[in-house]
Amino acid sequence: MANIYGYDKQKEYIKNALNNASLSHFYIVSGEVGCGKKELLNHFVKTILCESHEACNRCSACMKVESGNAVDVIRVSTSNKKTIGTKDIRTLLDDLYVRPVEGEYKIYIIDAGERLTTEASNTLLKALEEPPTYAVFFLLTSNKEKLLDTVLSRGTQIYLPPLSDNILETYIRKELKIFDDDKIEFLLNYSSGNIGVVKNLSLDDKFFYLREELIKILEQLGDKDARCLQSIKILFEENKEYHDDILKIMLSFIRDLVYFQNTNDDEGLINTDKMYLIKSLSDKIKNAFNLYDGILESIKLKDRNVNVIMTVKVAFMNALSEE
Ligand SMILES: [Zn+2]
Repeated sequence: MANIYGYDKQKEYIKNALNNASLSHFYIVSGEVGCGKKELLNHFVKTILCESHEACNRCSACMKVESGNAVDVIRVSTSNKKTIGTKDIRTLLDDLYVRPVEGEYKIYIIDAGERLTTEASNTLLKALEEPPTYAVFFLLTSNKEKLLDTVLSRGTQIYLPPLSDNILETYIRKELKIFDDDKIEFLLNYSSGNIGVVKNLSLDDKFFYLREELIKILEQLGDKDARCLQSIKILFEENKEYHDDILKIMLSFIRDLVYFQNTNDDEGLINTDKMYLIKSLSDKIKNAFNLYDGILESIKLKDRNVNVIMTVKVAFMNALSEE
């Protein structure tokens, strides 16, 4: 089972609630995609069902939760569904009034809670009006704003903020076995405290390949070498599945460029391992903000299905022709 990094306060919170017999019937666990909601939920469920309420990972209750065989843990199946409808919630609630089989509690889990339809939310709220004493609901969401106010106000909220650099660095060294200081620093800066982003990046050779290719292209752009237009076209065409990554990496470099140009400070950069590039581009591209704006616009237009190669090339052409 995976170690959980950070969120000690949240873990204590559930444990204390159990010890004080003040466990709520409805928790809303929120945090951005990749922050570790599911892992933490798993810990909460173990804490509640564990024979010693310690999430000991050794008792039969903990092991059943870990292997997905705990009969008193019931989930809405949300895979590939755009919305969670009334029918899904009714199915979830089917045996709400049947006492737990193995322990004192029954846990109901709604993942991707932002997908609840209004009707489904109301069905859930109805059940929460007078839930049986043993029922504990967990709703997970990466987009709390999409929940109905009535749902939000009914639940006890547990928010998972971005993790500190210290905690993430421990994770990177211990679990990912990455010891290269430059790489660690880049992962910390690029992920903004999101453990899922760190994990995905560390497993993704493609990401670092794309990054190196983009560095070459940005060097061409800095040299006002018009071949960068062809290079960027090829990079997009050859990596059709990775357009979002290309744009995100590109934006991070140009964001650094704007930041450095305006502050002359290299502390707040994301791509600290590529300082030489940022510094040299900062001398060569006079108006980095225009370029930044152009790339942002490309990202916006891409969502509206405008050809991204074309819009990025326009942004590059403007940078090539400045002055
Ligand atoms: Zn246990």
